[in-house]
Amino acid sequence: MAHLTVLTVPDLRLRSKALPVVAVDDDIRCLMKDMLETMYSDDGAGLAATQVGIHKRVLVLDLEEHAPGLGPLKIANPEIIWRSKETQKNWEACLSVPGQSALVERFVSIRLRYLDQDNRQQEKDFHDWASVCLQHEIDHLDGILYVDHLSKIKRQMLIEKAQKFKKNKKEIVTL
Ligand SMILES: [Zn+2]
Repeated sequence: MAHLTVLTVPDLRLRSKALPVVAVDDDIRCLMKDMLETMYSDDGAGLAATQVGIHKRVLVLDLEEHAPGLGPLKIANPEIIWRSKETQKNWEACLSVPGQSALVERFVSIRLRYLDQDNRQQEKDFHDWASVCLQHEIDHLDGILYVDHLSKIKRQMLIEKAQKFKKNKKEIVTL
């Protein structure tokens, strides 16, 4: 298994739009496995391929802690085919914007069509935390970060703070 490097702001590769996969084959399954491994070791709940510089519509998440039964999910070509009218503000954080968090408005429920790890098409409803996480990860595949949902001033402030956070963290590690 390989540990992948998670890109952080302001890396422009985070702004690329990912392309759909043709099929979930062994290569994609291997990528999903590496992404999960990377996500666990970096203490994240979700990770999109864009965040490791691979521009394929693949994401992984593990919400078992918050939503039992939603343990490791491996998803390709996710497509939101329905959104609830109801929205909700939740605190979000992101491995690509290290050390920061902010309140972001999201749809409470979504219906997702996607390919699972066995290349089978699935359609499933997700609510609350799972819905929020999926919207966050799907945004990544379109080159969008959660800070883009905030005001310009707040966004710039969080990006600057994230860069400082990463720099200081590195200095501590190398001492
Ligand atoms: Zn993120």
